Amino acid sequence: MTGIPKPMTLAQPAEDEFLAYDREHLWHPYTSMTDPTPVRLVTGAHGARLALADGREVVDGMSSWWAAVHGYRHPALDRAVTDQLGQMAHVMFGGLTHVPAVELGRRLVEITPDPLDKVFLADSGSVAVEVALKMVLQHQRGTGRPERTRMLTVLGGYHGDTFDCMSVTDPVAGMHAIWRGLLPEQVFAPRPPSYDATPPDLQAWAGAFRALAAAHAHELAGIVVEPLLQGAGGMRPYLEACLHVFREVADEHDLVLVFDEIATGFGRTGHLFVSEVVTPDILCIGKALTGGYLTLAAVLTTDEVARGISASESGVLMHGPTYMGNPLACAVASASIDLLREGDWKADVARINRALTAGLEPLRATPGVADVRTLGAVGVVQLDHAVDVVAATEAALAAGAWLRPFRDLVYAMPPYVISDDELDRLVAGIRGAVRAG
Ligand SMILES: *Cc1c(COP(=O)(O)O)cnc(C)c1O
Repeated sequence: MTGIPKPMTLAQPAEDEFLAYDREHLWHPYTSMTDPTPVRLVTGAHGARLALADGREVVDGMSSWWAAVHGYRHPALDRAVTDQLGQMAHVMFGGLTHVPAVELGRRLVEITPDPLDKVFLADSGSVAVEVALKMVLQHQRGTGRPERTRMLTVLGGYHGDTFDCMSVTDPVAGMHAIWRGLLPEQVFAPRPPSYDATPPDLQAWAGAFRALAAAHAHELAGIVVEPLLQGAGGMRPYLEACLHVFREVADEHDLVLVFDEIATGFGRTGHLFVSEVVTPDILCIGKALTGGYLTLAAVLTTDEVARGISASESGVLMHGPTYMGNPLACAVASASIDLLREGDWKADVARINRALTAGLEPLRATPGVADVRTLGAVGVVQLDHAVDVVAATEAALAAGAWLRPFRDLVYAMPPYVISDDELDRLVAGIRGAVRAG
């Protein structure tokens, strides 16, 4: 790699000191402060590689949680941030606007399905889902149905970590039991049938979903789901036909249909957005929106929903984060969208799918493996037991790959720029993790 400065390496004592301080003082996602699992010190990243402080370079199988689709230190994305920095890092969005926000809004309206042409910029995925739920409630109030306050969703979903997001997340994985009385009580339908399910499975599920919607129609405001692929709730692709059931049921009972594409958006499943197959009334996007550079999310909706919100008692959408429309984040998001539009992400996603399918399918015969599934640039190996995360992570690193298994799942969704050689290493890492985990 020419032109890329060598990542910093740290002398062992310095590395140990940073790790010790981190362990004592910094919370990591879903970890204990008193008994934390080990973390690795990263000193740099480029392309599909992470550079560790000990000098090792490993292939990134996680895209920093679905986000870094173009890889790290992409020249066009680096430039978008530094150019914007020369203008201004941030200004408030109340009463002011700026070119990066307008340019991003224009792109989002252009690349999403037609009726979705009103844009709310939020600062994280969870906030986007909160805003979407607020839009649903305000729309129902504005159209004379204030008694409709509950959401219909499916088991196995994940929609973020704030309280209303947790309320529509799977009740077991989301541990509703520990929050009983504090979470709004939503209506949960069975998990949609797996992508390899049979027509009778689909009929049975659709019947149950329709019946539940009909029974609760008087109190339901909307439907919220991750379309086509349930992510953090279990990495499960499901039948595309279910999307049509969601749309039909929403229309039949005047429910606002929300698709949470925070994980699936920007090509990951092979569709730029699953919303191209069936179009929702509200679309949430995040994660890969900025190519993994800065935290930003967006909620898009239709003119009809926007009018409903404006007809509610406040007359306005009651939300406005301090860092709304952050110019640095908007600028890099537009640059990331331009890379997708100019490049051939579809070919890359198909190439990654072939490599993951060929590499992981043989693992079905491995003892301890319950299922193997791939969709777009996502590959999943489900074990028949909880993964030993520490051992699995170590084994993947030994094979040259960074993975972050959870529950019974070893999975990967690499940057689209990953090379064929790097894909081989990633597959080796997954195999190692499965054997060790
Ligand atoms: C990650 C995720 C969220 C939450 O996004 P954050 O940016 O972590 O708040 C919501 N919904 C889905 C489907 C996600 O994958």
